[in-house]
Amino acid sequence: MNELRLSGDRVNRPAARPPAAPPRRGAATLALLALIGAFMLATAPAARAAPLPPARHVVQPGDTLASLARQYGSTVEALIAANGLTAQTPIAVGQTLIAPAAAQPLLPIEAQPRDTLASLAQRHGVKLADLQAINQLAPGQRLAPGQDLLLPARPDQPSPALPPGPIRAITTSPAVVRQGETVAVRIELDASQPASVTLALAPQQIPLRPAGADALVGLAAVHALTEPGFVWLDLTWQAAGETISRTWPIQVVDAAYPTFDIVLPDDKGELLAPELVQAELERMMALWNAPPTPIRWRRFFQRPLAEEFLTSAPFGQRRSYNGGPVSGFHAGQDFPAPQGTPIYAPAPGTVALAEPLQVRGNAVLIDHGGSVFSGYWHLTDIAVSAGQEVQPGDLLGHVGTTGLSTGNHLHWELRVNGFAVDPMQWLTTRFP
Ligand SMILES: [Zn+2]
Repeated sequence: MNELRLSGDRVNRPAARPPAAPPRRGAATLALLALIGAFMLATAPAARAAPLPPARHVVQPGDTLASLARQYGSTVEALIAANGLTAQTPIAVGQTLIAPAAAQPLLPIEAQPRDTLASLAQRHGVKLADLQAINQLAPGQRLAPGQDLLLPARPDQPSPALPPGPIRAITTSPAVVRQGETVAVRIELDASQPASVTLALAPQQIPLRPAGADALVGLAAVHALTEPGFVWLDLTWQAAGETISRTWPIQVVDAAYPTFDIVLPDDKGELLAPELVQAELERMMALWNAPPTPIRWRRFFQRPLAEEFLTSAPFGQRRSYNGGPVSGFHAGQDFPAPQGTPIYAPAPGTVALAEPLQVRGNAVLIDHGGSVFSGYWHLTDIAVSAGQEVQPGDLLGHVGTTGLSTGNHLHWELRVNGFAVDPMQWLTTRFP
């Protein structure tokens, strides 16, 4: 099953704060095309590619700073600054350059022998507190030669370092995130200074919950189509009658998702009415955008199928149609398996939906709490009912090819705050 950038799937961009607008003109048609594409893709093999460090480029014959700036959506000035060049420096074939996004406010650097946080702050004209905060380092922490660091914004830009007050620290994990991944955010509080705190990754509001007496935690979804570079958390708190805001960077790297071009036969256009596709999506959105319930998981998620069933179309696979531009991505992970293969709950939760749908076929949606939902589409039969509590390993149903699907497979989908994220990350990461 595939979904496009309909209203539940907007890209997180710090500057863009789109209102809850209706889908763009033509989105329903595109959604239909995408669904038809998913229909034909159910068993398409696609090995998951390893992530590549996208911000580095090995100079090829014919490359110029101007051509690289165009290629990476950057500027000549940003390339010069990121690589310690001058406008006159020739670039050599084989040389590795950092290719920052045009608006990238942070620069990656490597610590050299004898560098300290204080010496780097002085050399680059940035605040020591910002350098510490951005890199999540303790004051005075020693640096290893070759250690990757981020150089914060210029001194004339707003400081992300936290002022004295109720917020003592903010940390994000993983420190560098791939497109489509989930990020855990932890906010350390001074318990003696009560504060009301909100967190967003626009347009996503991030529910916060207590973690002990002096911390809050939340989960942010980084949209699969986010441009590599930085996205910014918006942290706002009120204390002593004052409202204070800070933005906090999350570095996003290219997940190297493969692109798959789908050639649509002429006779597939009538398969499903766009209104129906949209109505079903809106029904799902109403469920996974509901107010969060208490979190239920305590450990890693388990695989929903036995290990022998490998995945085919991975989460995040870019999709284009008839050779056109990329217009959507695969919102879940597909596991081809024979009809009747059992599907198991990966984690505790409450069944939020268990019924036949037109597009998703026999569908099960589980609420794991904390605005985290997992979905299981195209089942041949359903073994649970709405409202039922499930534990890891409980039978949910069996693999089938109901709804808009051409072959027996499980489409497994994970939603965080309503956004589709890579479910496979949850098999190896224990989120708070
Ligand atoms: Zn799928």
